[in-house]
Order: sequence, then structure tokens, then C-alpha cells
Amino acid sequence: MNEPKRKKRVVSGIRPTGPLHIGHLHGVIEPWRDMQDDYDCYFFIADYHALTNWSENMDVKKNAMEVALDMLASGLDPEKSTIFRQSDIVEIPQFHLVLSMFSPVGWLLRNPTYKDQVEQLKIESPNYGFLGYPVLQSADVLMYEGELVPIGKDQAAHLNLTIDLAETMTTKFGKLFPVPEYLHSEFATVPGSDNRKMSKSYGNVINIKDSEKQTTKVIKSYYTDPLKPYMGDPGHPNDCPVFYLDKIYVKDKDELGRIRKTCESGERGCGQCKAELAEACNNYLRPIRERRAELEQNPEKVLKVLADGAEKARKIAEKVLARTLKAVTIR
Ligand code: ADP
Repeated sequence: MNEPKRKKRVVSGIRPTGPLHIGHLHGVIEPWRDMQDDYDCYFFIADYHALTNWSENMDVKKNAMEVALDMLASGLDPEKSTIFRQSDIVEIPQFHLVLSMFSPVGWLLRNPTYKDQVEQLKIESPNYGFLGYPVLQSADVLMYEGELVPIGKDQAAHLNLTIDLAETMTTKFGKLFPVPEYLHSEFATVPGSDNRKMSKSYGNVINIKDSEKQTTKVIKSYYTDPLKPYMGDPGHPNDCPVFYLDKIYVKDKDELGRIRKTCESGERGCGQCKAELAEACNNYLRPIRERRAELEQNPEKVLKVLADGAEKARKIAEKVLARTLKAVTIR
């Protein structure tokens, strides 16, 4: 009899900066959901990482719960995947500390995300944790012997340091954990109501947990093609965020074709389009929202999922940490 093929381990996390929006849903959570059958998935809520841009009114614990509800309601299945909170893995800070001793500051200063953010957000005195966040990210992957890290086309730089660090450690100490590889994935970039990338910081979002009424209100406020001020003017579906969302929510290909054609010919007005999209979007989100509301009534179920996930993840973390401490002669 053939042994069943061992599934490769995927590790990925999301920061709990607030409830998730439909950009996160279609850009991250659904791609994760679709990996669950083919890989041994470890998905975590990166609550330490949320401290990178800490602010007075932030409640990381509450946000982590919101994200857990969103993840579970959107189809991440604890029967298939290991779902946990980063801070529940007590080995992480210790492992991170050891890895930091092998992470040249030059690598961190050259990290394009760090450089961009310091410039764009005009951060005068970037903190040590922000400079070091790729080391914590590396700890997150290597701690559970991650083999594959899902990554969008232009995000390779995020993982390069993890790979370099894993190679450095392997060369010095032999194999403590695998050197991970990219799992190239197609991630959608969902546009928000102002036609920029949907992002909480732009205030242009539809949250998974929003009411149908709120969703309809936001969709009605979506960016309207300035070259189509009147009914009868031809539209430009390829550049239209409403049509982008139609491609997600209108499941019937013929119907989608009709929307495109009647928009381009000018027969269809933007008001009609938005009203129909609001209905399709609410229909799509309804079962997710219902599951979410149910889970919200049973927080102990969610906490149990996170506790079980942490227990499972810690079994690997303990071994990797012990091996690493021994290798560096601390133990
Ligand atoms: P972070 O700073 O951790 O990237 P974000 O909330 O901006 O926090 O994003 C978390 C993840 O969600 C990232 O992988 C990001 O690419 C994805 N994401 C965020 N906004 C969108 C969006 N509008 N469309 C698709 N994916 C998104």
C-alpha cells in the first residue's frame, strides 16, 4: 500500500488591527481557505506584530477576537488547519531573541518595506521592534517548521530575510528547521469606495461584520466613472471598482457579460449597477455574517479553537526551540 503523501506545511499570519474587510476576505482569507485541503496549514493572528504601530485607542486583544471570528466565519476550518494566536506561543519571544543574534542590522536597514514606510509615514524615530519585524516574521515561520509561505507576486522581499536567516543558521548549526520557500499565489487587490486599495486607514471599507444596510450605503457611495456623468454615456468597466466587485459577486458569467456590455454601450446607469452589486454582495456575505453572529454568541467556542491550535503549534515550537537553544550552547 502506498503511504499517503505528506502535505507540505504552510505558515501565514494576519495582524489584528481591527475587524477584517472584504479586501482581507478575498485577498487573504479565501486564498488560505482554498489551501486547506492541499497543505498542512498553520494560520495565526499576529498580535505582537499589531504593536508595530501602536496607538492609544488600540485594543489588540479585542481585535484578535474580531479577526478570529472573521477567519472562522469565512471558512477557515479548525478540523483542517491549525489556527492560533501568536502571543499564545510562549516560545516565540525566546526564539525571536535567539534569531535576532544572527540577523545583521544591515539586512534589516535594507528591507524595502521598512525604508518605504519610514519615508512615507515620515517616522522620525522608528522603533527597534519595527526595524526587527522581519526577524519576528522569521520566527513565526521557522518556529513551526514552515516549508511554504504564501506570497503575492511582488512581496518576495518579505520572505528573503527569513530564507537568508534560515540558511545562515543551517550553515552554522546544521538543520534546526527547514529553509522555507515561497508559495506563489494570486492575491486579489480589492478596491475601496474611493477606488484606492481598500484599507481601514483610507476609510473606504466594507467590513465582513457590517450590516447589509451599511454595506449598501458604502456601495452606493463608491467612486463613479467621471467620464460617465449621465445615463447614455458609455462606461469603462475595466477601470471601474464597482465592476471589479461584480467580478467577485456576480456568479453568473452571462449576467456579468450583460453588465459589461450595457455599461459600455451606455444603456446602464451607475445607480442601477451599484444597487445590483449591493444585493449580490450582501447575498454572498450573508452566510458568513450569519456564522459570525452565531460564533459571537459563543466566544468560548472561538477561544477553544485558539487554545487547541496553540497547544498543537506549541508541540512543534517546544522542539524547535530546544534544538535551537542546544545548538547555540545555551542548553
Ligand atoms: P499589514 O500591514 O499587515 O499588511 P493590512 O491590514 O494592510 O495589514 O493587510 C493584511 C493583509 O491583507 C496583507 O496581506 C494585505 O496584502 C491584505 N490586504 C489588505 N488590504 C487588501 C485589499 N484591499 N485587497 C486585497 N488584499 C488586501
